[in-house]
Amino acid sequence: MVLILLGAPGSGKGTQANRLAQKLGLRHLSTGDMLRRHVKDGTEIGKKVESTMKSGQLVPDELIVKMIADQIESMSSGGVMLDGFPRNLSQADKLDEMFSDHGLNVDRVLFLSVDEDELIKRLSGRFYCPKCDAGYNYPMHLPKSEGVCDNDGEKLLRRPDDEESIVRDRLEVYRTQTSPLEDYYRKQGKLVEIRANIHPDKVTEAMLKAIMDIGQTDLKQAGNAKA
Ligand code: ADP
Repeated sequence: MVLILLGAPGSGKGTQANRLAQKLGLRHLSTGDMLRRHVKDGTEIGKKVESTMKSGQLVPDELIVKMIADQIESMSSGGVMLDGFPRNLSQADKLDEMFSDHGLNVDRVLFLSVDEDELIKRLSGRFYCPKCDAGYNYPMHLPKSEGVCDNDGEKLLRRPDDEESIVRDRLEVYRTQTSPLEDYYRKQGKLVEIRANIHPDKVTEAMLKAIMDIGQTDLKQAGNAKA
């Protein structure tokens, strides 16, 4: 089973993908996480993409398509949840090509929709632990002691692209380059829109319902389903 998570920055894709991956035994493939790991490790790819990521723009299609191509073989067995890819129509075309070469198919596109002022609020209150990657946000999910991680006492940081002016640019990139994918997948009957301005648990519930709808056979193929 292949699921795509679609939604603007701050819509909760990462949080929800982690929850669903755990519940359903799906593999969570986040292009943003993969790229951030490259930057952290100082790889050639990391050096190439760092400034583009900081500015909130998209990194070149060829680079990201190659990253996904490297994972295609492993998508044939077990379920996968793509988070952050495809991000424009040309990446969606490439994915279709790669999938048809490997007999794969996109089962559902789960679109998390949230109003823009709520997105800005969420992103400007977001912090993470550079050691264990735990996420926090003000004022909803505060650490026990201000500014440090509950798990390891590490000082919390903000993603460089969560600064307000950059957030606005990322939302503009979403509007102009990524949101056409909503229609692209709606026309194929694959898009399920989930209003994600509600409690995260309710969002998870709605997503699970949309996935269950695909059918038990596919769910079994997704691997050790626990829910
Ligand atoms: P967001 O919270 O904005 O959805 P991500 O963690 O998915 O963030 O991505 C962070 C950054 O990584 C993007 O702003 C972009 O620079 C780069 N990136 C991630 N996925 C892609 C992609 N499919 N195509 C191009 N750039 C990408």
